[in-house]
Amino acid sequence: MANEKIYDVLILGAGPAGLTAGLYAGRSRLSALIIEKGQDGGQIAQTAEIENYPGQNVNGESGASLVARMTEQAAQFGAERVTDVITGVSLDGPVKKVTGIKGEYLGRTVIICTGATPRPIGCKNEDQFKGMGISFCATCDGAFFRGLDIYVVGGGDAAVEEAIYLTRFGRKVTIIHRRDELRAVKSIQEKAFKTPNLEFAWNSVVDSVDGEGVLDTIVLRNTKTGELTTIKADPKDGMLGLFGFIGLIPQSELFKGAVDMNESGYIITDEDMHTSLPGVYAAGDIRVKSLRQVITACADGAIAAMQAEKYIADL
Ligand code: NAP
Repeated sequence: MANEKIYDVLILGAGPAGLTAGLYAGRSRLSALIIEKGQDGGQIAQTAEIENYPGQNVNGESGASLVARMTEQAAQFGAERVTDVITGVSLDGPVKKVTGIKGEYLGRTVIICTGATPRPIGCKNEDQFKGMGISFCATCDGAFFRGLDIYVVGGGDAAVEEAIYLTRFGRKVTIIHRRDELRAVKSIQEKAFKTPNLEFAWNSVVDSVDGEGVLDTIVLRNTKTGELTTIKADPKDGMLGLFGFIGLIPQSELFKGAVDMNESGYIITDEDMHTSLPGVYAAGDIRVKSLRQVITACADGAIAAMQAEKYIADL
């Protein structure tokens, strides 16, 4: 059913970028609607511990807890929120249309904050064991692997931070990294090297996984020699945990052809978050940028909302 109201700003996605855009739009007395398909927070809602968001210094605070305050703050300033899955967009012209499963939404401007999702591990049989030993969310699933051996793929900030978090559940956690050097920032690396039950399988990738119903076998391939090594779950455990944190895929499929993107599907903006279409902005992990963090997503959201205000004032 069409909602006839024309909002000043439609905000697509309720991660840190979208919630900040909602807050800033609300403070500017723009009518704003945030459309989100799932829970607020995006990737950060699944992050066990945040320690680098300025001013947030509650020891051990989770991403979900930080994001709950962002949601509340955006609502306090009047940003409306709807849960819907967006299926189409029409972003040309003075009134933009966003189509969801539940209805259509109209706006004078649109801020795209749809973020990015975890990249699959890319090994044989991966799909068969998703949710049966393979996970992409340590906070969601870590406790299922209490007392078991856990493997984490990746060498960036996410892999190393989440591996450290998983050591509270696993008997032992092993980071599988394709090189012999981590990509994660030095402070996270230092913490990892001091964590007692955290080990490393260097120059390795997961070639295949297997199991009787649940994951109990991981085959590693050495990236230098090609040698395969089979890891079997202890028969008393019956299963292993395998977490993937090897980067992100932008959720930009819906906007292909509408706004300019780079070859990886990230939306190209200028430093004021303008996309190639007037009145359409992109903020947060979805856009081409050098640093994908909560702080930079929030900054993008704030800038985009202020640009939307300017655009509407000039109409
Ligand atoms: P990332 O920084 O892109 O790192 C991806 C890691 O996965 C790299 O170590 C990469 O190896 C490895 N990798 C990529 N493709 C692979 C493949 N096909 N097979 C095996 N390994 C593969 O991704 P991320 O750690 O998910 O982080 C994403 C963004 O969020 C980054 O901008 C990061 O800084 C940010 N983040 C920040 C924090 C924080 O500040 N606390 C926490 C989490 C995430 P190579 O190193 O060899 O390329």
